[in-house]
Amino acid sequence: MNRIELVDSDKCVGCAACASACPTHSITMKEDKEGFLQPRIDKKTCIGCHKCQKTCPIINKESESKGETKAYAAINKDDSVRAKSSSGGIFHALAKWTIEQKGVVFGARFDEKWEVMHDYCETLEGIIPFMGSKYVQSRIGDTYRQARNFLEQGRWVLFSGTPCQLAGLRAFLGKQYERLIQVDLICHGVPSPSVWRSYLKDFVTDGEILSISFRDKEEGWLHFQNVTTTTTTTTTTTIREHQMENPYFRGFLKNVYLRKSCYDCSFKTLHRNTDITLADSWGIDHYCPEMNDDRGTSLVIIHSKKALQLFTSVANLCYAEIQNLSEALFYNSMMIESVSLPKHHKRDVFLVSLKLFGFKKSCRYIDTDILFVRLAKYVKKRINAIVK
Ligand SMILES: Cc1cc2nc3c(=O)[nH]c(=O)nc-3n(C[C@H](O)[C@H](O)[C@H](O)COP(=O)(O)OP(=O)(O)OC[C@H]3O[C@@H](n4cnc5c(N)ncnc54)[C@H](O)[C@@H]3O)c2cc1C
Ligand code: SF4
Ligand code: SF4
Ligand code: SF4
Repeated sequence: MNRIELVDSDKCVGCAACASACPTHSITMKEDKEGFLQPRIDKKTCIGCHKCQKTCPIINKESESKGETKAYAAINKDDSVRAKSSSGGIFHALAKWTIEQKGVVFGARFDEKWEVMHDYCETLEGIIPFMGSKYVQSRIGDTYRQARNFLEQGRWVLFSGTPCQLAGLRAFLGKQYERLIQVDLICHGVPSPSVWRSYLKDFVTDGEILSISFRDKEEGWLHFQNVTTTTTTTTTTTIREHQMENPYFRGFLKNVYLRKSCYDCSFKTLHRNTDITLADSWGIDHYCPEMNDDRGTSLVIIHSKKALQLFTSVANLCYAEIQNLSEALFYNSMMIESVSLPKHHKRDVFLVSLKLFGFKKSCRYIDTDILFVRLAKYVKKRINAIVK
């Protein structure tokens, strides 16, 4: 029997590079008790080739890119595109260029159950479901293998995702492709798919879901809202909440249920092996106010010559101004820093409570630090009483 060990579940980013690389399909990505996908090896079919270990981007750390890094504040000229995008709509401009080259675009979209998955498209309409940030970890599925097939056919492939997903893709491909465009994000971290599922079950109960936006800009980019539209046979309902009013988003921003690897992320580097990093130009008012009309401005960080050429090719679609990178990152430290754990073991207690009682009944743990202080005191008192 083979004894193949992958990384500890605390370190695993869930990129699925190991599963994609396994020649005998012996690895499946299964949800752990917190709802995050983790690789599980079928020892009966594993042939002990170690390919999974050799492919894992956590076991085999890459060195940082040595390329010159440039930063731009940028806005898509098409207002309707920008309205659907989380920041300035630059992802759409890059994806449009790729489709016009008869290429393929990979990104994250909702599936029929409103969970998040990676997929690809070959048409302009196909880009639409990938637009807008979905603050849930997406399932990579078979997309690395699909991307490799398209690249081997000599087609342009734009692959977008979190930095760890792009690291997984590079590790899986194992070689460079001239026609691969890697677009990653400044990444806060990703919540567990089961937390999202539980939130939907408890809070979105009014009929069938028609649409979900985490970053609706009707009241502006800075004061973005979470908007969910549902329908029944008789009514259509829209739930519109400010980012801090929505319990799911509040828990995300307070880091209550991110993947463990996100609290000590290995991919928070300035010089990256991707081509382009996209983000929100938070703080733009301080360093380039003329690029802020509160309808969304992207921060575009260029890491390679290929990326600079591509960004120049989409210049007709965007307004862009070069920026001082240090100044831009002063307002967006998530490029280089991980989030910190919430205090008082809030995360662990929330996730246990979620499993027992569901999202609604566990919500108080998102907000009330004092509960944990009381709980800790109570447990200490009980232990002391038992020990005595
Ligand atoms: C989980 C997550 C955390 C983020 N954290 C930050 C942050 O801390 N600071 C910051 O400035 N920006 C962050 N971003 C990036 C930001 O929200 C925008 O996605 C980015 O600015 C691109 O915006 P856009 O207007 O160009 O295009 P959009 O149309 O808004 O971008 C869509 C892109 O995001 C990708 N995407 C959407 N959801 C996911 C997902 N679940 N997993 C992988 N890829 C996804 C799509 O594939 C597509 O490439 C985060 C994005 C995600 C998904
Ligand atoms: S050792 Fe080889 S066969 Fe076994 S799980 Fe890893 S990649 Fe698959
Ligand atoms: S390749 Fe990715 S999913 Fe597999 S063990 Fe490594 S980090 Fe985890
Ligand atoms: S914070 Fe790091 S580990 Fe977490 S999803 Fe983002 S890139 Fe991956």
